[in-house]
Amino acid sequence: MQDNKYVYMFEEGNASMRNLLGGKGANLAEMTKLGLPVPGGFVVTTTASLQYYEDNEKINEQMTSQILNAVSKMERDSGKGFGNSENPLLVAIRSGARVSMPGMMDTVLNLGLNDKTVEGFAKVANERLAYDSYRRFIQMYANVVKGLGSEHFEKALTQKKKSLNVKSDTDLTADNLKELVSEYKSIYKELIGEPISQDVKKLLIDCVQAVFASWQNPRAIVYRRLNDIPSNWGTAVNVQAMVFGNKNNNSGTGVAFTRNPSTGEKALYGEYLINAQGEDVVVGIRTPKPMSSLKEQYPEIYKEFENYCNVLEEHYKDMQDMEFTIDDGKLYMLQTRNGKRTGKAAVKVAVDLVKEGLLNEKQALLKVSPNQLDSLLHPQFDKQAIKEANVMAKGLPASPGAGSGKIVLDSKKAVELNEEGINTILIREETSPEDIEGMHASEGVLTVRGGMTSHAAVVARGMGLACVAGCSDVHINLSKNTLKIKDKEYKEGDYISIDGATGNVYDGLIKTKEVEPEEDFKLIMKWATENKTLGVRTNADTPKDATQALKFGAEGIGLVRTEHMFFEGSRITSVRKMILADNKEQREDALEELRPMQRADFTNIYKVMKGHPVTIRFLDPPLHEFLPHNLDDIKLLAKQMNVEYESLNKKIKSLKELNPMLGHRGVRLSVTYPEIAKMQTTAVIEAAVEVKEQEGLNINPEIMIPLVCDKKELDYIKKVVEDTANDIIKESGVNLNYKVGTMIEVPRAALLADEIAQSAQFFSFGTNDLTQMTFGFSRDDSGGFLTEYYDKKLLDFDPFSKIDFEGVGKLIQMATKLGKSENANLKVGICGEHGGNPASVEFCHNAKLDYVSCSPYRVPIAILSAAHAKIKNEK
Ligand code: PEP
Ligand code: MG
Repeated sequence: MQDNKYVYMFEEGNASMRNLLGGKGANLAEMTKLGLPVPGGFVVTTTASLQYYEDNEKINEQMTSQILNAVSKMERDSGKGFGNSENPLLVAIRSGARVSMPGMMDTVLNLGLNDKTVEGFAKVANERLAYDSYRRFIQMYANVVKGLGSEHFEKALTQKKKSLNVKSDTDLTADNLKELVSEYKSIYKELIGEPISQDVKKLLIDCVQAVFASWQNPRAIVYRRLNDIPSNWGTAVNVQAMVFGNKNNNSGTGVAFTRNPSTGEKALYGEYLINAQGEDVVVGIRTPKPMSSLKEQYPEIYKEFENYCNVLEEHYKDMQDMEFTIDDGKLYMLQTRNGKRTGKAAVKVAVDLVKEGLLNEKQALLKVSPNQLDSLLHPQFDKQAIKEANVMAKGLPASPGAGSGKIVLDSKKAVELNEEGINTILIREETSPEDIEGMHASEGVLTVRGGMTSHAAVVARGMGLACVAGCSDVHINLSKNTLKIKDKEYKEGDYISIDGATGNVYDGLIKTKEVEPEEDFKLIMKWATENKTLGVRTNADTPKDATQALKFGAEGIGLVRTEHMFFEGSRITSVRKMILADNKEQREDALEELRPMQRADFTNIYKVMKGHPVTIRFLDPPLHEFLPHNLDDIKLLAKQMNVEYESLNKKIKSLKELNPMLGHRGVRLSVTYPEIAKMQTTAVIEAAVEVKEQEGLNINPEIMIPLVCDKKELDYIKKVVEDTANDIIKESGVNLNYKVGTMIEVPRAALLADEIAQSAQFFSFGTNDLTQMTFGFSRDDSGGFLTEYYDKKLLDFDPFSKIDFEGVGKLIQMATKLGKSENANLKVGICGEHGGNPASVEFCHNAKLDYVSCSPYRVPIAILSAAHAKIKNEK
């Protein structure tokens, strides 16, 4: 049997092997191929990690021997020996999934050091570096492999500094560090119960296993869920020769982008620290210097680096995010990847790369991820309000956007308040991966420490969340749950506002305002519109929403939820009278009160939509949702209806259902009370006649019946609709076309789609209900137990946000095929929340739907997703 290949030397790989080698590994291989100075090493593949899980978290012999062979190759290439006490080879072990998951998984540096090799390393490098590296290794190994908290070692370090009366780590001498190594070893032995191994090969295998295992740590699981990354991708592990940015003052380490990741401006952008190890920059404990200082301090190195930036941008045809280290005056490239950027930067870089001739329009569209547009579409601070606002402090403008809300000092609290619908600003000394959910739940994040590439900055930019970082004027007092900015004290719960584009921190709550799209954004939307075939409509119940959606490029309305209009002003009283009527006459009287109001709603929407299609969905929710529940409201209604309170109360109680979601709702309401469908049809058609007569607009209303599960049921209502509509049209003498279609949101309707398509002129998948009924998960309150499903890896994502391709998706594909085979003119769309989810939009394109419909602010996202789907298919 041929051996599986689990290990690739960097020179054996290339950038196209991302799935197998992970993003980091594939790019290290590619840079090696391009002749850039990359420290040697190898990648243990993602397939190896999957095998490791399959074998109950064990590395098999084949893998072990391939890893050790690769180490031998590194020894030959470097002239150093792994475990050699004269000239030891030291390696770094880093995770590297297909897509970057910053800070989610584990890293171990300086592996190869033990009591003997540290002495050899001290001779070839220097003593201080050797013992500092050994100390760091013990801590990382204990933490990553044995799960021992870093605080045990940090405490010893702090005590050491205190006893020597020094402030910074760099004040410690080689002898101090030697003592610390021996203290660290004692701590390790005491807490782990055995001394740290001296066998570097064993240590290496342990670390590879630990990195594999870190794919399943809770923060990685949460990150995958939030970013839609499947758990079955696994992670690769990169083993690479160490270079030292902390060797001396001729050494350093940094992170840089080829363009500005906040604005997209074309200029080398980043930070570095002299005499520091890689993680120091990312963690954000010391404040780094901008790249412009490197140009002054080390002009030759800067020039060399600038040259690599150009090589990499031309090669990858995208903005790059690179890590580099200077080891005693020699520059090394440790990583390159397509840089994470804000929505604003993504759009600008994509447009600029087309102008620079590096990309064509289609390639450029694929460089903007649809969800990134979100941050360009959301409100900014109201200009007047911001002029009057009080700037309390200024930090780094780490991720643009306006955020205003209540101060929270911990992430859990942010999540809790978010669930209550309260806006928050999360304020932390610095964030760590544990804060991801809290950041997601907040309107913005403010950190006291850290630079533009700190965790908070990188993650917030990815999320499109407003972020101000490194704001040292903020002083947090966690024991009192307060903070001080200058002389003002704030409690948790007080209001604060931040502007991630300027770095300003403002006192109090500030009004926000809609944004006007910029030219680059308009160009991207133009290209996307030209490059898609899937229609994009909007879910809108008001002329205001419809206007906004049209501005964003919606081609029609795919869903008007008529019941949303029932709560407005005085009409709720008429709705209640209609529901509580004792007989048909009373009901018709109440409906007659509603008809002109409904007609006016539709007239206004038609006027805004100017002949674009408008799909009006008939009354859907269970009736009790409209009824009053507290005593005073019931009494008031009894008075308005001129009935006894007791009998009214009894009637209200009798309308309560045990399973309202499966109860008297949707088409079932019109089956029981056809006069509701009659009234709504009258309003829809009268409004269309009116607008046609008055404005000359050609309106073709699409009447949509919800929750249908059978052709006979649809036929019954369709007859009511047609009889009513045809009478009005005939009487008006106006030539008006209308359609009657159905939602497909009950699994039985999907199964019998061919029969239903004989009566329906269009289908629209109501994937909110279809998901609810296919899984049997309540769409309103399954959130709690679904968390257990994510934790136990029974589900990778929320099926109410992204279509469950295997189950619900299968029903969609099947129903579309069945429907279209029976009725060639059948138009098919989707109007559940999934219509604005990029992956779901791509699914709909591939399933050959005619359109998706989503909320107004998601229209640009859906348009770009539809273009992505088309372009990817052409590929
Ligand atoms: C749906 O069920 O997907 C839908 C669009 O209808 P509603 O959310 O109003 O039930
Ligand atoms: Mg529904």
